[in-house]
Amino acid sequence: MTTWTPRPPSPDEPACWSWPFPPVLTDEERRARHDAEQEHVHPDERLTWSAMQLVLKGIGDIRMIEFHADRCAACGRSGEHLVDDHDHFTGRIRGFLCRSCNTLEGVCRPGVLDLYRETHPAKILGIEKYYTGRGWPLGWWQNWRTAWRLTGNEAWLPPAELEKWRNRPDVTAGGMLGMPTTPTPNHHR
Ligand SMILES: [Zn+2]
Repeated sequence: MTTWTPRPPSPDEPACWSWPFPPVLTDEERRARHDAEQEHVHPDERLTWSAMQLVLKGIGDIRMIEFHADRCAACGRSGEHLVDDHDHFTGRIRGFLCRSCNTLEGVCRPGVLDLYRETHPAKILGIEKYYTGRGWPLGWWQNWRTAWRLTGNEAWLPPAELEKWRNRPDVTAGGMLGMPTTPTPNHHR
């Protein structure tokens, strides 16, 4: 853990500077929480635990997700589509930003994004992860359908879907570097 101490919220500073550290969970606790969260998701859209591991591999560290709790690290708004922001020279992931902050059209006061780049969530948490270079939007993992189509990795599929698609040899999922070649299942109904 780093020596960072959360500061009182200020509109002149990145929102993430005021966030408390997330509790440090064991893998078992995380798994239990994942299962509990997925209970509220429609069975057709549920993410398996193995799919969740792919998520973590792709976008960094679970502590980053827990720290952000769906909030933009700069403006602090939640409910926005977040993207992983990284240093374009080193490739290191800094944190997750809403689209408007990421394109500098943000609602932040001037200078807040500069402060964020100096002291960002990865630095606060002491995490060193590198951007995968695929331009994957963070929100993609909330939908196994999209993730599967983009990666072609069957680990994304819920078990029931896996059976269904294994019986469709005429359909192949897209590769990561190519465009998705798989029609959405609805096309076949
Ligand atoms: Zn923002």
